[in-house]
Parts: sequence; C-alpha cells; structure tokens
Amino acid sequence: MAKQCCERCGKETEHKEWIRQKPSKYGASRKEKLKAFLDGFFSGWGGGGAAAIDLVDRYVICQECGRKKLQNYGDPFQ
Ligand SMILES: [Zn+2]
Repeated sequence: MAKQCCERCGKETEHKEWIRQKPSKYGASRKEKLKAFLDGFFSGWGGGGAAAIDLVDRYVICQECGRKKLQNYGDPFQ
C-alpha cells in the first residue's frame, strides 16, 4: 500500500494496488491466465517489463472511500 492523494477524500490516503488482466495473447485456460498474470505482475514490479505491462490495467483503490483510479503509467509507487 502507498499513500496517494484521493480526489474524493481530498487528502492523502492509503491506496491499495489492484491489477486486472486485459484480454491477451495468452490462452483462456485458468493455468494460462495465471501465467499471464504472473508474467505481467513480476515484470511490472521488476521494471523494464514494458511489454508485459501492456497486458494489465493497474488500478489503485482508496482505502478510505474505495475510489478506484486507473493508473497505467510509470512505476507503481515510489
Ligand atoms: Zn478516497
């Protein structure tokens, strides 16, 4: 979790990251989906995984009000 400014709360709140996989080149089976998710997840966090990042939508969710914000750019948190 990381502190971010929430527009609804109007202040810095704890945000939890949530990653949703986009439809991708990977197969539709459960196992393939898991693999695709892990690929994207780890290369995303490791940096330099630009191609894999394209496979997921990254959101942050405000822990105070539950507002969900799409955040598909840059490094997750610094
Ligand atoms: Zn909020």
